[in-house]
Amino acid sequence: MSTPANSASRAPRIVRTAAELSAAIAQALEAPAPGNHPATLGLVPTMGALHSGHESLVSTAREQNDVLVVSIFVNELQFNDRADFDRYPRTLEADVEILARAGADIVFAPEVSTVYPDGRPLVKLDSGALGEKFEGASRPGHFDGMLAVVAKLLHFCMPPATLGVPVAYRAYFGQKDAQQLVLINRMVADLNFPVEIRSVPIIRSAEGLALSSRNQFLSKEQAEAALVIHRALNLVKGRADRHEPLYLEDAAGLFEMEPLVELDYFELVDPRTLQELAFNCQDTPFTGEGLLLVAAKIGEVRLIDNMTLGY
Ligand code: AMP
Repeated sequence: MSTPANSASRAPRIVRTAAELSAAIAQALEAPAPGNHPATLGLVPTMGALHSGHESLVSTAREQNDVLVVSIFVNELQFNDRADFDRYPRTLEADVEILARAGADIVFAPEVSTVYPDGRPLVKLDSGALGEKFEGASRPGHFDGMLAVVAKLLHFCMPPATLGVPVAYRAYFGQKDAQQLVLINRMVADLNFPVEIRSVPIIRSAEGLALSSRNQFLSKEQAEAALVIHRALNLVKGRADRHEPLYLEDAAGLFEMEPLVELDYFELVDPRTLQELAFNCQDTPFTGEGLLLVAAKIGEVRLIDNMTLGY
């Protein structure tokens, strides 16, 4: 565990271009790491509109690294719906205040022209079959676009080779976006990215709603109706903990009682491969490990959530 390079109240350095970012990272890493360990660099990629879920990633990364970069970039490539992109909240000033309190050293807030200087990339990353199911089924191209920006951000923030000292490089992602996390882990493994991916648990409201930048679009009534997601996950989790049959259809039944909430999917999958585990849903007592994935629409707002079983 290392000490933050900055005190928690110091404003982070805001950089816009790749050159400014590299220079800022190099400078921050030049300060000797406390103790006798290799320097560590953490990156937390975000799309801004920061809430306590993001803060949890940032504080975990802060504790674990000498130098902490948080990126803020709303990536058009991963929005298959233009209206969703246009209305996505952009709150840079408030975000920077949060990041100052959280102790980030550098905020990378690039323009579109920095990330995609030649427009949409011609060479694309293909998220394959994993990227076509669940979220990918209703958001075609979403995961290819997400991988494109994550690959770029991982490269932008790479510790400079000229530094001459070993730097352990980590990037932090939330378990909230479980399918995204599986795909990023696959990309890093399949394509030998020199970075370690670390995941951070889901942060929820006191009532159980997984925090999301999109929650602010829910009316009070809709936010209350959305709690059915957590009730359904907990129903199945309770059965799994007691090694009972899961009867996923009971969870789907809870959604039928909430007319404001339209269920898209509620599935039990293998946490690493996202293969459906239909066997465990029937009359068989649940054993082993699984990941419950859920997505639902409330008005125009699409919410996702998940819960691990058997851990
Ligand atoms: P976003 O800004 O939505 O792209 O999210 C940036 C990162 O924050 C992603 O790795 C998300 O998985 C993570 N994140 C978003 N919401 C939560 C949450 N409620 N709990 C934990 N991590 C989250």
